[in-house]
Amino acid sequence: MSSIKAPRGVRDILPGESWKWEHVFSVTRKVAGDFGYREVHLPVFEHTELFSRGVGETTDVVEKEMYTFEDRSGRSLTLRPELSASMVRSYLENRMDKQHQPAKLWSAGPMFRYERPQKGRYRQFWQIDFEAIGSQDPLLDVESIELSLELFRRLGLSNLEVLVNSVGCPACRPVHRKALQDFLRPRLKELCESCRGRFDRNPLRILDCKNPACQAITEDAPSTISCLCDECAAHFDAVRKGLAMIGASFEVDNRLVRGLDYYTKTAYEVLSGELGAQNAVCGGGRYDNLAESIGGPHTPGMGFAAGVERIVLTMEEQGCSFGEPPRCDIFVVHADDSSLDAAVSALYDIRRAGMAGDMDYTGRTLRARFKTAGASGAAFACVLGPEEIASGKVTLKDLRSGEQQAVGRAELVGFLKTVL
Ligand code: AMP
Repeated sequence: MSSIKAPRGVRDILPGESWKWEHVFSVTRKVAGDFGYREVHLPVFEHTELFSRGVGETTDVVEKEMYTFEDRSGRSLTLRPELSASMVRSYLENRMDKQHQPAKLWSAGPMFRYERPQKGRYRQFWQIDFEAIGSQDPLLDVESIELSLELFRRLGLSNLEVLVNSVGCPACRPVHRKALQDFLRPRLKELCESCRGRFDRNPLRILDCKNPACQAITEDAPSTISCLCDECAAHFDAVRKGLAMIGASFEVDNRLVRGLDYYTKTAYEVLSGELGAQNAVCGGGRYDNLAESIGGPHTPGMGFAAGVERIVLTMEEQGCSFGEPPRCDIFVVHADDSSLDAAVSALYDIRRAGMAGDMDYTGRTLRARFKTAGASGAAFACVLGPEEIASGKVTLKDLRSGEQQAVGRAELVGFLKTVL
């Protein structure tokens, strides 16, 4: 074993698991197409400013969790902690505002946050991210929420809770902020240290503190919904009606405020009953001021991100199907050294015909080669020895039934295609 290990909070996704991820991505790709979203690949690092201005200076992500470094020319860069800011940056930089609106885009890849690792929480984790940029239509909020639910449905997930809230906009948020501060001020000393710090800088986040004492204090705190301006209230109404109309089940949760500052109006989260403390599989919302906060024109947007590790964990715990793991179709076995070349040549014919073939590379005995063939999961062993070569045939052994038959070497590929 090497003395160098992977850093804390990062995981290797090994072959025993990576095929399950592949299933999640292929279902995602199909759902994305069905909802009209197109894929983009975004950079893993960006200028630090993008996140400090976009995500918000007073958020936990920006204050405590970013992997920030200087490159060799002294620029401050950050490994992306999330994708919405990058997607909006890309939308603006690539003038997607000049194309059909909204731009419906999706992306997937690793994110980086310096968090305390635990089950379902890592320092490098993967997100699947969907963003619709350039429209403030509440039906887009409905579409985005339903897209995530359809994705989870197709993956076979059950026992999910969908929580929806409205966090208002710059017009009504100060009203709520003041009402909340007035409510909390007399009990400020009883709040946890982080919440006391949040009181002036970002009191909304106190609603989302996991500390039981803080939760008890905020039990009857004024909700964001009670302070919404007319426009936000009408928007929230339309989102709820739209979700009900398409039969999406959800609950309104007044406490849901989410950790990133850019949310306006709709905020939502999908929770899994199977995950323990880190139970959010997906979170998102509307971010009508994100583009402006990173120096662009006013551009409304709506999106969500789902955590791939948490999706896979939940699927495993719920016994969902990942389809079939990839396996070898035909394992080519040479009987002795003199038949090795003929076996290698057959193997490459099989592969060039688009079938999955393999052979043993460890130079072991014939018996051991047959053992490897059995363990490979292949349907057939294709055996070549001096006798086969002399007669221009191969012996094809069905590894499940044990039955054998001779097939002409020239007909091998055509024959295999009919039986696989
Ligand atoms: P957020 O960007 O914080 O709204 O997170 C969106 C989703 O990403 C969450 O619902 C989780 O599924 C996933 N996620 C966020 N942080 C982590 C983490 N540290 N480790 C694993 N998954 C995460």
